[in-house]
Amino acid sequence: VNDTKTALVTGANKGIGLAIARGLGSIGFTVAVGARDEVNREKAVEELRAEGIDAFGVALDVTSEDSVAAAAKVLDRLDVLVNNAGISGSGAQDPTTLDLDVVRTVLDTNVFGVVRVTNAMLPLLRKAESPRIVNMSSNMGSLELRSGPVLAAYAPSKSMLNSITVQYARVLADTNVLINAACPGYVATDFNGYAGTRTPEQGAAIAVKLATLPDDGPRGGFFDDAGVVPW
Ligand code: NDP
Repeated sequence: VNDTKTALVTGANKGIGLAIARGLGSIGFTVAVGARDEVNREKAVEELRAEGIDAFGVALDVTSEDSVAAAAKVLDRLDVLVNNAGISGSGAQDPTTLDLDVVRTVLDTNVFGVVRVTNAMLPLLRKAESPRIVNMSSNMGSLELRSGPVLAAYAPSKSMLNSITVQYARVLADTNVLINAACPGYVATDFNGYAGTRTPEQGAAIAVKLATLPDDGPRGGFFDDAGVVPW
C-alpha cells in the first residue's frame, strides 16, 4: 500500500513544472514526473532524487490519448494533479494573419491536453482524501488585464483553460476535489528565452499553494501570489 501522497506534474522535466515537482517533493509528496521525452524525464528524476525527493518518471505526452491512458495505468494513487505542460505556439500570432494550425496546436496542448489528463486521472483523484487539481494558466488569458504581447493563439488558450476550470469546479462541487487555475508571473524559462524576471521557484509557489489547499479552500478560481487574478 502506498501511504505517501502522490502528485503528478505534467511537463515536469524543466522550467516551472520541474520547480513545482521539487516544491511538492520537498514537502513530502511522492512526485510523478510527467514528461514526453525519456532522456529529459529521467534527467529530472535523477536531479530530484539527488535532492532527497521521492520521484519517478511517467511517460506523458498530453496530446496523445494513448500516452495519457498509459500514464493513468502506471499510477496506483493520486492526490494532486498539476496540469503544467504548455506551449506558446510559433510565429507572431497576429489575429489578422493567424495561421489556424498554430491555434489548433496550441489548443491541443494547453486546453485539450488538460481535459485529457484530468479525465484520465479523475478516477484515481476521487479516491484520495483531499484531492487537488491545479491548472497552470497565465494572466495573458485574462480578458480584463490584456497583458503581454498580442498572441492570438496562446492568450485565448489560457482564457479557455480558465473557463474550463470553472466548468470542472461546478461538476466537482459536491466532491472533495478542489480545482483552481494559477498564474506563475513572468518566469525565466525556455518558454520566453529566459526573458522572464521571476525564478521557476517563485513561479511554482502559487501552484504548490493551490495543490495543498485546505478542504474548505476555493474552487474554480484564478490566483497568483497576490491573490485573485481578475478574469
Ligand atoms: P517551458 O517551455 O520551460 O516548459 C514547458 C513544459 O511543458 C516542458 O516540460 C515541455 O516538455 C512540456 N510540454 C509541452 N508540450 C507537451 C506535451 N504535448 N506533452 C507533455 N509535455 C509537454 O515553460 P514554462 O515552465 O515557462 O511553462 C510552464 C507553464 O506555465 C505553461 O503552461 C505556461 O503556459 C505557463 N506560464 C509560463 C509563464 C512564464 O513566464 N514562463 C507565464 C505564464 C504561464 P518538452 O521539454 O518535452 O518540450
